[in-house]
Amino acid sequence: MIKTINLRHSYPGPGGTEVVALEDISLSVGAGEFVAIIGANGSGKSTLAKHFNALLTPTGGECLVEGLSTAAPENVWPIRQKVGMVFQNPDNQIVAAVVEEDVAFGPENLGVAPPEIAARVTEALALVGMEGYRHHGPHLLSGGQKQRVAIAGVLAMRPRCLVLDEPTAMLDPQGRDEVLATVVRLNRTEGIAVVYITHFMEEAVAADRVVVIDAGKVAMTGRPAEVFSRVAELKALGLDAPLAADVAARLRAAGIAVPEAIITDEELAVALCR
Ligand code: ADP
Ligand code: MG
Repeated sequence: MIKTINLRHSYPGPGGTEVVALEDISLSVGAGEFVAIIGANGSGKSTLAKHFNALLTPTGGECLVEGLSTAAPENVWPIRQKVGMVFQNPDNQIVAAVVEEDVAFGPENLGVAPPEIAARVTEALALVGMEGYRHHGPHLLSGGQKQRVAIAGVLAMRPRCLVLDEPTAMLDPQGRDEVLATVVRLNRTEGIAVVYITHFMEEAVAADRVVVIDAGKVAMTGRPAEVFSRVAELKALGLDAPLAADVAARLRAAGIAVPEAIITDEELAVALCR
């Protein structure tokens, strides 16, 4: 789905200097795969996400989306249809005064015919569990509901991949649960590839693979159980392990035999009860 090869990005800094945000990133996201990206503030996560749908172009190396280089201007629109972006603040992503108009905005801009737009709006709202809110004003919705409408707006363009940049950072715990559950379902049942940037380690546990970014480089990558059992390394990068993995590591250090692969509360409870 997405492949970066020695991807580098620098922003212009003060007085003609360069701010290097991405040093040398080589990674790939498979079709239908769910990849979580974690890393400290300023490590380059948002910069990387913006390369995935050609909002930025590389200052070195390459970023390919289904084989199309993001650097070629003629590829920008095909790439934006394949990869949809969802950002942190739902209020900045909602443009219309009625939910269904908001969801229709993307396909309208793509020039989709009106009857087809209506069908896509119905489908997209159903996929995020918001069909009952079609005629509502977005300003009356909760944060989690707004973010699901924003996701529906992207789904109406029928992307093959969703890139979400800290989509739950501004939500309450219920909103966070709703959004994560929606994204997991879209991945598992619709086969949509997901790149999910988060600073909530418990959310990253839902992914097939976790990529840890540090200072513009890939610091760690692997299945959640592999990455999150390396508690000391995560802490050195300024990150926390999920609570269950942290407690399991402390128990092991205290001489209590707890398996390495524990990352969820349920797994920890089962292991301790044994
Ligand atoms: P993250 O999302 O992990 O917090 P970012 O990708 O936003 O990281 O930022 C990575 C680095 O690039 C930081 O040092 C940040 O200050 C810098 N940066 C981000 N956006 C810009 C910009 N528009 N101009 C200059 N520097 C930027
Ligand atoms: Mg960011």
